[in-house]
Amino acid sequence: METREHIVVSHKKATLTPKAIIHQNFGNKASYVVEEVKEVHQIECPGLSIPQMGPCLYRCTLQLPELSVISGTFKKKKDAEQSAAEIAIEKLGICTETIDPTPQGAQESLVARIDFIFSEKFLLCDHPLSGHIRATLRSKGDLCGSIPISVLAVYDAKLLSLCKCINPDVETNPFLVISYIKSATANLYQYLATSEQHLCIRRLTPYPQDIVESLMKEHDSLECIQVAAIRIPSSVEQSIEQVTLRISLREYYLDVIANELGLEDAANVMISRNLGKASSETRLFFTAPKPYLLDLSSKFAIGKETLYLMGSLNVRASYFAGQDIAGDAILASIGYTRKSRDIFYEDVSVRLYYRMLLGKTPGGIYKLSREAILASELPSKFTTRANWRGSLPRDILCMFCRQHRLSEPLFSFHPFKTSSLLSGSCLKVAESGDNVIEHINGVCVTSSMHSDSELFKCEIKLLSRCGDLIILCSPKDGYKKQNDAIQNASLKVLSWLNMWFKSRIVTFERLCETADDFNIQIYSNNIISEILAGQSTHNGQLNAIQCNNIVEPTYMNSSFDMLGNMVQSLKIEGPYSGVCPCNGSLPCIRYSVSLAVESQNVKEVIEVCDEFEFEVGVGATVSYIEEVVMQMSVGQYAYFSINFLSSDLIFASAGESVKMLSLLSSKDCCVEYEISLIKVAEPPEERMEQALFSPPLSKQRVEFGVQQILESHATTLIDFGCGSGSLLEALLNYPTCLEKMAGVDISQKGLTRAAKVLNSKLSTNSDAGGLWTGVQSVILYEGSITNFGSQLQGFDIGTCLEVIEHMEEDQACLFGDVALSFFRPRILIVSTPNFEYNVVLQKSNPPAQEQEELDDKTLLQSCKFRNHDHKFEWTRAQFRQWASDLSTRHNYKVEFSGVGGSADVEPGYASQIAVFKRDWELEDDVLKHADEHHYNVIWEWNSRKE
Ligand code: SAH
Ligand code: MG
Repeated sequence: METREHIVVSHKKATLTPKAIIHQNFGNKASYVVEEVKEVHQIECPGLSIPQMGPCLYRCTLQLPELSVISGTFKKKKDAEQSAAEIAIEKLGICTETIDPTPQGAQESLVARIDFIFSEKFLLCDHPLSGHIRATLRSKGDLCGSIPISVLAVYDAKLLSLCKCINPDVETNPFLVISYIKSATANLYQYLATSEQHLCIRRLTPYPQDIVESLMKEHDSLECIQVAAIRIPSSVEQSIEQVTLRISLREYYLDVIANELGLEDAANVMISRNLGKASSETRLFFTAPKPYLLDLSSKFAIGKETLYLMGSLNVRASYFAGQDIAGDAILASIGYTRKSRDIFYEDVSVRLYYRMLLGKTPGGIYKLSREAILASELPSKFTTRANWRGSLPRDILCMFCRQHRLSEPLFSFHPFKTSSLLSGSCLKVAESGDNVIEHINGVCVTSSMHSDSELFKCEIKLLSRCGDLIILCSPKDGYKKQNDAIQNASLKVLSWLNMWFKSRIVTFERLCETADDFNIQIYSNNIISEILAGQSTHNGQLNAIQCNNIVEPTYMNSSFDMLGNMVQSLKIEGPYSGVCPCNGSLPCIRYSVSLAVESQNVKEVIEVCDEFEFEVGVGATVSYIEEVVMQMSVGQYAYFSINFLSSDLIFASAGESVKMLSLLSSKDCCVEYEISLIKVAEPPEERMEQALFSPPLSKQRVEFGVQQILESHATTLIDFGCGSGSLLEALLNYPTCLEKMAGVDISQKGLTRAAKVLNSKLSTNSDAGGLWTGVQSVILYEGSITNFGSQLQGFDIGTCLEVIEHMEEDQACLFGDVALSFFRPRILIVSTPNFEYNVVLQKSNPPAQEQEELDDKTLLQSCKFRNHDHKFEWTRAQFRQWASDLSTRHNYKVEFSGVGGSADVEPGYASQIAVFKRDWELEDDVLKHADEHHYNVIWEWNSRKE
């Protein structure tokens, strides 16, 4: 569904953007795909030339029925889209005259447009409307060349936007278009005829005989087509059913639909906007309500209330279409397009209807795979784009608003700074106090004081069409990146709405009570209940239908919480491979879900998905799938059943076939799942740490280091195994007495990244008026930390964080000896994972019984290393042993500590740390190491440039 930006035709002179012009001509058949284009260019660093990512650029591909064009690259997505639209307009030679903005002018243009539509020239062109006119040429009498006004109103974007100029209410009341077209046609009484009973327009003088004859010859086929469609009866007592439209290519398809609706011909058939994907022609066809037909001639504009309260509002169809629909409705995918002169059609199944319906709720749109309806859930937290599968929360929210005919949501940012006042061992985050940051109208007034980093909070406003505030969501959490703030805030709103959509047990009152938990304030109870009303009525009806006809009421009434152990007769088959999912990992499963009735020995597959990947521990999937997958290893199969039918299941399967319905109605119907675990993507260690610790363990390690630096007044630091420089970079954010920092690593790749990160950090910092850290020199070396690099002797502090486990055990021991006998820093900090803590990380929610049965040792034995690159992971005892022996050998003192968890609570810290201290002074003599090395300088930065 396209944003309707061109609708904003104010009284000022409005010029249309290229996108708006494309929209006018193609409606939602225009699809824009924006892709990121990364520009890589070389930047020169002292001593090293490294590729630097340029700013992110965007390129847009615009797909139209008849051509597709690609824009150049732009900094903003918007510009790329506009540019693509511009190129397309040029290529298609679309006339870009702007619409006359005055209602008066629009009225005149409307008359001219209608006149043109009934011209001979138009009859021969490829416009969808001319397809309709051609199709009626075979009809007899007045019906020959006569087309329904409703057809004009929906298939010509130009007419529609002119009507919007006359009266913007057209947007919410599509029937108004018909009355505007009808009255404009009255001005053309010399050429065009309309009739009182029939909402049709035709020429008074027939089209020239020769043109008609040649057109007839061109399209003379005796072929009949069968198109599957569905009927949505206006009475909720009647169920939705499949109908088949049998259309001879010699007749007008709308007449066939009219017959299906109990009408004689197409004249009074109403047509909704396009509902399916942009490439389809899926619309609802229904009957014009009687009172409307009666009033049309006398009254120019009829209020929607009068119209619908008198007629019979079709609640299901109205909710589905997002517009008011009266009487029975036919959902079909059929029509003329610009692509070809042949009629376009696709089958519409009841299943498709339910799926489209599902797609309307937030829970339905968020899918790891579009097909995985029964398996996925809306996650509770947005971490990174990489962790998120499917549409982003913000996009889902925007889509939700569009579908519910609200204004686009408003996002506003409230930047604030955290000041880093180190007190005790933790970083204090102060939002107010000395470094007060004022924000005036969302603009941050920065203070000149030292501050750690800027954080963003995102506030969201949902507004009605008319701009009235409905809800305000102001989350308390701040994020470093604007995007994280906006996505998490959007997710909050969605999760709140989702509660309503997911479970019918929640009442509207209860929903309002929960608002506070989601940092949501409701401003207009009426509007929000109105938005949700469609959904609730709909659910209510389905509920009623299913209770009566399909599902035992007890299933529907049981609450999720009360179900307890839902998984039944679980069987896991196949050899145990040892590769198992754990918290944060990404298992990929193949599954099928079937309805089964044992007594009848039948089984009907309702959903199959070959590749469904989800993140464990974040609620990405329905709980029982996760529960089962956690017990499997790669290569195994699992079978289980659930004797409870979720609403999603009913949505996804209802009406699929008679067989299915009869299965659902049998008492012993259950849902069978078959799952095979195809692979498990290891959780990056960092992601796991991020998910479980706040602040993340890496940050806690940095702060532990900062603490040691501050206490010891160290001015020089070496980071052994600096990797991509995260510690060095982070240290630049803290006010310490450090003057000189060095990093050593054997990985070229890591060092290149470190150089890039540090280079950009240091250059932006100095551009911004100098670093407030006292660091004057940073240098990166390439080399193994098991060799002594003689440049690095006698530094105050050495750090070696999460490195030793990446080396073989003997190499780790060698490093210890080399570090304390040759590098000889005053302080050496070594951190490494505590293997015992893996029980917590990897078996975070084992079934209670099982935990009791297993003793700690067995549990620990089943744990894996946290990262495939780890050569070992030590228990607390092993680490203590190593560190104590080492310190004794080299006359250092050692203290043990850690981050994540606590020393006093089993199984200790997540990351264990040894701090070695030398309390004696080095003698002046320079030590000679047998195997002395000079490390290669990879990158260097000095604050005082010579
Ligand atoms: N200290 C960093 C990186 C940890 S990953 C951090 O905390 O983020 C482990 C790093 O150790 C890798 O970058 C790897 O290249 C490095 N490493 C492994 N063996 C090494 C050796 N013998 N000499 C130097 N670096 C080594
Ligand atoms: Mg590691």
